[in-house]
Amino acid sequence: MSATIIDGKATSLKLRESTGKQVAEFVEQTGVTPHLVVVLVGEDAASAVYVRNKERACLAAGIKSTIHRLSAETSQADLLKLIAQLNANQDVHGILVQLPLPQQIEEQAILDVISPLKDVDAFHPENVGLLVQGRARFLPCTPAGCLQLIEQVCPDISGKHAVILGRSEIVGKPMGLLLIQRGVDATVTTCHSRTKDLASITSQADILIAAIGKANFVTADMVKPGAIVIDVGINRVDGKLVGDVDFAAVSQIAGAITPVPGGVGPMTIANLLQNALLAARTQTS
Ligand code: NDP
Repeated sequence: MSATIIDGKATSLKLRESTGKQVAEFVEQTGVTPHLVVVLVGEDAASAVYVRNKERACLAAGIKSTIHRLSAETSQADLLKLIAQLNANQDVHGILVQLPLPQQIEEQAILDVISPLKDVDAFHPENVGLLVQGRARFLPCTPAGCLQLIEQVCPDISGKHAVILGRSEIVGKPMGLLLIQRGVDATVTTCHSRTKDLASITSQADILIAAIGKANFVTADMVKPGAIVIDVGINRVDGKLVGDVDFAAVSQIAGAITPVPGGVGPMTIANLLQNALLAARTQTS
């Protein structure tokens, strides 16, 4: 058996086209162009690529994009000052601080002061709280993308056992929150580095989401035949991008699987654009 390949690239393009149309309508109705500001501190090569891709996607959807490139030596105080200015600037609807930040800056201190209305990454405690309560303001971009890909091959997730590998604030935790919300109704198990007998849990999963950041970690013996496998991981091995899932072997037994690249990654950006539009809408009405 060979798995259905879930095409994140094609799905994300459809979502981006739809967002582009919604942006055009919004601009026509309000005269306001949604504006996303990305703050990049330091010279991390992967971050620079992500930021460039975000800028391109914004422009293609008719969203204004500004990038603040700050030196790796930027102090926390200076970054806080910039965030305060962006919060106060009515021309700015969305603020995204690209992570990771250099060591001298405490990430949470920065994420905590971004205006919740402009927090397009949905990392602010107020937005996390709203998500926990099932009334999200912004959907977390990567988990939302995973859910959209799962829904493509499994329109009725209700009652399915979803196992998440990883409990980060960015992927694992919010992924679980999206899957257990009413209307989606999965039964969720979250695993992490202290989980015992991982394979016995993952092999019970109807839906397996891998977000641990270890190349080819999920092997075929950890996967239930016919399962939906969503690979969030982005790892560089010998100059090549690979996921957290051993794609060659797992695609032989899974029912459906996302590739890396071309799976979850493009969905993250597509959902960011949706959030930028939503932020502009919320602040304009
Ligand atoms: P983190 O490093 O923040 O979290 C990794 C999680 O995996 C932790 O909860 C950790 O457990 C768990 N873990 C690590 N080793 C094991 C193990 N051996 N067994 C079980 N669990 C383990 O990573 P992120 O969530 O930020 O990212 C995960 C991956 O997804 C990375 O490759 C990243 O590049 C990618 N990513 C991709 C995105 C996309 O758009 N496609 C967006 C964001 C991330 P513990 O908490 O106990 O340490």
